[in-house]
Amino acid sequence: APRTVLISGCSSGIGLELAVQLALDPRQRYQVVATMRDLGKKGMLEAAAGEALGKTLTVAQLDVCSDESVVQCLSCIPGGEVDVLVNNAGVGLLGPLEGLSIAAMQNVFDTNFFGAVRLVKAVLPAMKRRQRGHIVVVSSVMGLQGVVFNEVYAASKFALEGFFESLAIQLQQFNIFISLVEPGPVATDFEGKLLEQVSRAEFPGTDADTLRYFRDVYLPASRELFRSVGQSPQDVAQAIVKVIGSARPPLRRQTNARYTPLTALKAADPSGRLYVRIAHGLLFRWPRLLDLGLRCLACGCPGTRVWPR
Ligand code: NAD
Repeated sequence: APRTVLISGCSSGIGLELAVQLALDPRQRYQVVATMRDLGKKGMLEAAAGEALGKTLTVAQLDVCSDESVVQCLSCIPGGEVDVLVNNAGVGLLGPLEGLSIAAMQNVFDTNFFGAVRLVKAVLPAMKRRQRGHIVVVSSVMGLQGVVFNEVYAASKFALEGFFESLAIQLQQFNIFISLVEPGPVATDFEGKLLEQVSRAEFPGTDADTLRYFRDVYLPASRELFRSVGQSPQDVAQAIVKVIGSARPPLRRQTNARYTPLTALKAADPSGRLYVRIAHGLLFRWPRLLDLGLRCLACGCPGTRVWPR
């Protein structure tokens, strides 16, 4: 029988792509419940799903920040039984800390962290009873290492990494797999929405130097990074499809080989100095390196040969 896959945040980006790719699986292995907070935004998903709509893909309402919405959504799934849960819904928060409200920071944790925890609590009892299941979490390379001016977003992804790595140990006893997928920069609405927010924001209480570093140094460097190593949501979705189809799914899976030179720095120096020094240098001292798209400096290859995944 096809596996029931519940995905959060499918009105755009990675969630939309993943829902469609799974629903169009040539071997018809999946029955996809593609959820979104606002059903008014289902047009793009329905158009992309085409003939799969109403067959291998259904659309349902789900706000990951609401207990009632989670209960309501699961009650529409026969037996409430989810074989694969994909925690994809997420929001970003960008800018100097001094100018961000605690309420905005709490919203990031409510969505990115507690949103995933809420769904896991809801599907876990049935998964444990059946002794099978797979929980996939769309984390980020920012769940592995911090990125300047993304402190709270990175913290929410670190929280996911710690939570799910801890849970994976218990769930191995129940034959339930956990996979944290860690994309680098992805060209979706995510970055567009953030850049629009920061272009309107004033970041009150922030000193002039910090504002200048953010607007004149960080933002151009970030755009350059998205341009040079950014992945498409289709590519990320394809990597997640592989993880879901795997007989022994990995706990962690980075999707962007071009970004691995940066994530490797943390493992290379457990003191943490190397990563902080190079991340600082790339931003403030040698930003032109980003123009090279983090290519291997020795031979100019995109990094895959010297930095195997
Ligand atoms: P996106 O903005 O297109 O998708 C995020 C989705 O989450 C949106 O459809 C949004 O409506 C939904 N969402 C937000 N709050 C919600 C809530 N309370 N309930 C239900 N849905 C809600 O961006 P995306 O890039 O496709 O992001 C998907 C995931 O990928 C996120 O978890 C994000 O953190 C992660 N990610 C993105 C990037 C990137 O560069 N775009 C990189 C690494 C990881």
